[in-house]
Amino acid sequence: VFQVSGITAGRLEEMYWQIVSISDALICSTLAVAIFAMIAVDVTENIKTEAETDVLSGLLNRRGFEARAFGVLSGPTVDAHATVILGDLDHFKSINDRFGHGSGDRIIGAFSDILRNKAPHDAIIARIGGEEFAIMLPAGSSIAAHRVAEAVRSTFKEIAPGIVSNEFNPTASFGIATARKDEGLLGLMERADRALYQAKNQGRDCVRQVA
Ligand code: GH3
Ligand code: MG
Ligand code: MG
Repeated sequence: VFQVSGITAGRLEEMYWQIVSISDALICSTLAVAIFAMIAVDVTENIKTEAETDVLSGLLNRRGFEARAFGVLSGPTVDAHATVILGDLDHFKSINDRFGHGSGDRIIGAFSDILRNKAPHDAIIARIGGEEFAIMLPAGSSIAAHRVAEAVRSTFKEIAPGIVSNEFNPTASFGIATARKDEGLLGLMERADRALYQAKNQGRDCVRQVA
């Protein structure tokens, strides 16, 4: 019988197949771990996306907006002069009271679609409250922001009566502020809110911008 250092050819073949089956098992379990890790990453991403998305509008929610806007103002590629537009539907409580919550929801959906259509592709768009919306535009967009807000305001005014009743004209008010050097998200949002307050006080259905 053929022998290598006292091991028979039969024994060699047996060892060969043992090594093959062990390495097969190793490859399979490594693959299983890799697939499991990929699924875990995917599930985590989905949970994160859901936690940052508003169900009714499909836009970002407040959490999603703040995370991204904070990144713009103080992230690794700081955009110090970003602009925020706040939009708030006018007399929305009376729309709900008169036409029901379902109609109110449809108006929120329609307003959200208009925001998506009128905002530039690099804008951060969110429904940050019940009938309150925020858009952040990158630096150098302060004039563009006014144009975007005006376009949303006039389109909403045109489209909204068709959603609830032709006898009712839902409108929205807008406040705009551009970040000052070293201004944080909180300060910027407060100034945009002040501009929105002016719009509400000066008759609603208008856009106001603070310096
Ligand atoms: P203003 O012009 O001053 O903004 O008046 P308003 O009535 O819009 O403001 P107010 O804050 O008094 O009321 C907001 C209303 O929005 C109250 C609430 O019932 C309604 N609302 C909040 N979230 C939702 C929602 O998800 N769906 C519907 N249909 N209504 C909502
Ligand atoms: Mg309102
Ligand atoms: Mg409001």
